Amino acid sequence: MTEDGTPAPDPVRDRWRAAMRLALDQAGLAVAGGDVPVGAVVLSADGSVIGRGHNEREATGDPSAHAEILALRRAAAVLGEWRLPGCTLVVTLEPCTMCAGAVQQSRVDRLVYGARDEKAGAAGSLWDLVRDRRLNHRPEVIDGVLADECARMLTDFFRSR
Ligand SMILES: [Zn+2]
Repeated sequence: MTEDGTPAPDPVRDRWRAAMRLALDQAGLAVAGGDVPVGAVVLSADGSVIGRGHNEREATGDPSAHAEILALRRAAAVLGEWRLPGCTLVVTLEPCTMCAGAVQQSRVDRLVYGARDEKAGAAGSLWDLVRDRRLNHRPEVIDGVLADECARMLTDFFRSR
């Protein structure tokens, strides 16, 4: 905080706020299908959105239908290949082990996430799969972007159930 109470500038995180708002929009779409509100977008190297996804596990009955997996799949379809170099995955909640694995496999340059997941997070909380030094691809990780808004969406959802 600065002296007048406004949040101090945070250039590393502030750069990703607009993209995180798009991911939050996606998270909102999950609720209609009865899914936990988690949303993701993939940005190409030039910053355009090439993949979007929200949690659809309940809606589709697919255990792998997490927001990150769906957004990465759509981005790969747009680029026409499985490698996504130069791309950034932006997601409202810290990825689980499956999605951290998909981050590895897709070779994205960067993972940006909002809220931490202390119970199942695999990008810094419970595990840190994406930065495991034994793996040869280690994307940059930026956490805590609009973390409060991302976390509030989840707590509001669970409180309403
Ligand atoms: Zn996941």
